[in-house]
Amino acid sequence: MHLFWTVFLFIFGACLGSFLNVIIYRMPRGESIAFPGSHCPACGRAISWYDNIPLLSWLMLGGTCRRCGGQIAPRYLVVEATTGILVAGLYMCYYVLELRSGLGPFAETWPLYAAHVALVCGLFACSVIDAETFTVPLEVCWFVSLVGLVAAAASPEPALLPFVSAPLAVGSIGALVGLAVALWLQYRGIILPSFIDAEASKAEQAEDPESDPASAKAREDKPVTVAYSSDSGVNPRIEILREVLFLLPLLGGGLLSGLLVAHVPAVSSGWAWLMAQADGRVGWHMGGLTGALFGYFIGGAWIWGMRIFGTVGFGKEAMGLGDVHLMAAVGAVCGWIVPSAAFFVAPFFGLLWALTLLFGKGQHELPYGPWLSLASVTVMIFYDSFAAGLDAYRQFAGL
Ligand SMILES: [Zn+2]
Repeated sequence: MHLFWTVFLFIFGACLGSFLNVIIYRMPRGESIAFPGSHCPACGRAISWYDNIPLLSWLMLGGTCRRCGGQIAPRYLVVEATTGILVAGLYMCYYVLELRSGLGPFAETWPLYAAHVALVCGLFACSVIDAETFTVPLEVCWFVSLVGLVAAAASPEPALLPFVSAPLAVGSIGALVGLAVALWLQYRGIILPSFIDAEASKAEQAEDPESDPASAKAREDKPVTVAYSSDSGVNPRIEILREVLFLLPLLGGGLLSGLLVAHVPAVSSGWAWLMAQADGRVGWHMGGLTGALFGYFIGGAWIWGMRIFGTVGFGKEAMGLGDVHLMAAVGAVCGWIVPSAAFFVAPFFGLLWALTLLFGKGQHELPYGPWLSLASVTVMIFYDSFAAGLDAYRQFAGL
């Protein structure tokens, strides 16, 4: 049975990879991912379904278009094969090698596995796009976060998320309300987005084809940078204050509701009553949902915290907001432990790459998103070791 599922999931993964290719190619170009159908990058003619079979079509046509003979980049094949290996590999790690304890049989826990597949595919697509354009596509992160929240809330049993106590669970709901308030304030123009002037001038430059072609060429040759410093005509230390302002309702809502549950008996017994409804089934679903919500906020908080402190400290934009959304998505699917551990593991992967840069030629600098993604998947798979390490640390520190 394991062999059947592994082969089936590899093929399924290759089909997902075919879709990821569409996302990776079209999202940074602002094209629709649904329409039109696949077309040849050389001649633009539509590709028939029989020439669009993942892996096989590329191999049989030798990476060329049947109509015009133009090259179709090996990247398409690599992304399809890698996605197939990731999806089947995750199944192997979880259900064959049983690297994660307490997961149970595939027939019962496949919705959780499906959410993890969505996360791994999302991280893979974001990493490729980030490596190419130095931008993390936020829509992909939002989609994965939503999948994580829905999977955790719908899970009939306590989901494989770290347990969160009542104050943290209610605090997460309070922070969600705070997030809605902050977004509404931003929508009404009461809080302005950060780096808005720098973004506007960048968009203006990009949209103005009349501008000196020589300088446009120079811009293209220049390595892509996203970090704003005082050179961009903005003061990053002041810009980041707008983000702190945006975060105040979240912090306020989270702290207030958490403290209410912790210290007001009427509120805490009300919460306990709600959790016990329908023979405790409300508790299951609420436990899953709040575990995912708490993970969402903690995952984002590590990166956003580092961004704020780094920007204030160095006077140069540190870490992108895309990475905040990326790690929030990891937390929404896996709970708070995975993004927290990955936050500390990622620099080691980045360091290894930096060492190869010293010796290798032709490699180029990479943004931080791929390292965060790689670290997250590593922690997901070897979760038990990280959770055991955290327990040992808690005992050691007497927490
Ligand atoms: Zn063609």
